[in-house]
Amino acid sequence: MNTDQIVIVGGGHAAAALCACLAEAGQARRVHLVSAESELPYQRPPLSKSFLKKADETIAPHKAAAWYAEQGIQVHLSDPVVSIDRKALRVLLRSGTQLDYQYLVLATGTRARTLDALPPGLSNVHLLRDAENARSLRTRLAEMIDRGQRLTVLGGGFIGLELAASARQLGLDVTVLEVAPRLLGRSVSASLGEHVLAHHRGMGTEVQIGVCVEDFELHDARLVSMQVNGNRVAVDELVLGIGAVPEARLAADCGLAVDNGIVVDACMRTSDMAILAIGDCAAFPTTDGTRIRLESVQNANDQARTATATLLGREEPYKSLPWFWSEQGPMRLQMAGLLPTSSATIQRAGANASSFTIFHVVNGRLLCAESVNAPLDHMISRKLIEAGVGVNTASLADPSIPLKSLLV
Ligand SMILES: Cc1cc2nc3c(=O)[nH]c(=O)nc-3n(C[C@H](O)[C@H](O)[C@H](O)COP(=O)(O)OP(=O)(O)OC[C@H]3O[C@@H](n4cnc5c(N)ncnc54)[C@H](O)[C@@H]3O)c2cc1C
Repeated sequence: MNTDQIVIVGGGHAAAALCACLAEAGQARRVHLVSAESELPYQRPPLSKSFLKKADETIAPHKAAAWYAEQGIQVHLSDPVVSIDRKALRVLLRSGTQLDYQYLVLATGTRARTLDALPPGLSNVHLLRDAENARSLRTRLAEMIDRGQRLTVLGGGFIGLELAASARQLGLDVTVLEVAPRLLGRSVSASLGEHVLAHHRGMGTEVQIGVCVEDFELHDARLVSMQVNGNRVAVDELVLGIGAVPEARLAADCGLAVDNGIVVDACMRTSDMAILAIGDCAAFPTTDGTRIRLESVQNANDQARTATATLLGREEPYKSLPWFWSEQGPMRLQMAGLLPTSSATIQRAGANASSFTIFHVVNGRLLCAESVNAPLDHMISRKLIEAGVGVNTASLADPSIPLKSLLV
């Protein structure tokens, strides 16, 4: 029995970042990386963007197999953890392999949300979560171009909209159906939501918001049609982009606290001190006493750093500024900070007609910045938010005053 092992469950961004941090700290030889996927951890963001548009683009691993071997990290692919024995400090993999741990880190991410009315296995209904999904979708999009078919995307969230923009750029006819009254309703301000809607319509995508989608007609393992606002609409291919749910089943099964994700403290410890959780699956406390879960590369990377400190016996509570990016065709959207429930909003024009930043100020302090095609403003906004200093709203709005000058 090996008593000092660190077992990481998951093969995504958080797991890859944790491997890198532990290697840097000279701890790699203690590590087992256990992934349900058949490939080494890879970059997920391109899957809805460049990967779909370029037939020859390959999946980009964070690190090559040789790196894991050199570091002494033992990698178990296509072999998900099926149960955790907290008393014995041991996990069981699907293959029957058992791994003892001193520390276990759950980095199990999320799984795409599905609809009960659309059982798995329908040949023209797709999800976009992993490399396998993206490969089959890319092949299907190419076939659709040849056949002149229309892609329907159910859900106007980030992944659905990125996919819709990529498909439009490939020349496909695309419809986006959003049940909520606006796009990206849970993530961005109403003004930015309006801009995003106009952007997609400008790209030639048919976008319907506030729709009622029901009564799916299935035939021969295919979705044939559905009712949209009471009208029967034929479906060629449908992608479900209706969000993700935290992959917390392992945690729940072994009795860890779960509440919209695996509940952790600011040092990423679950309700069992020997088990940590990081990344999309972790529900962590914020400074204002609430608990949130973030789905972003930044969050996965930064929580891996916090977890490394915890594993090495240091208390370094997680307090990174959240930031995020999305590419929807020619539009690059970047967010810094979390959108407050109410704020004074100030818009600043960017360097050209298609770029701007919306600032959200509360009690004279900048809390959030939403930038469109304005990467420099995004970078400086992050610094301004982190600095926590008071901001002059007139200066924020005036593009002739360099944003950088507000940092002093
Ligand atoms: C198509 C797409 C585009 C995205 N674009 C952006 C973007 O532009 N910007 C951005 O900031 N974020 C983006 N994201 C979100 C970002 O990829 C995630 O926030 C990030 O991957 C989270 O990392 P994670 O390691 O927590 O989870 P994941 O990367 O989802 O990894 C979870 C891993 O755990 C594995 N797993 C689950 N259960 C088990 C088990 N029982 N045993 C073993 N392994 C298991 C899964 O197979 C998976 O490999 C995108 C996501 C997708 C899907």
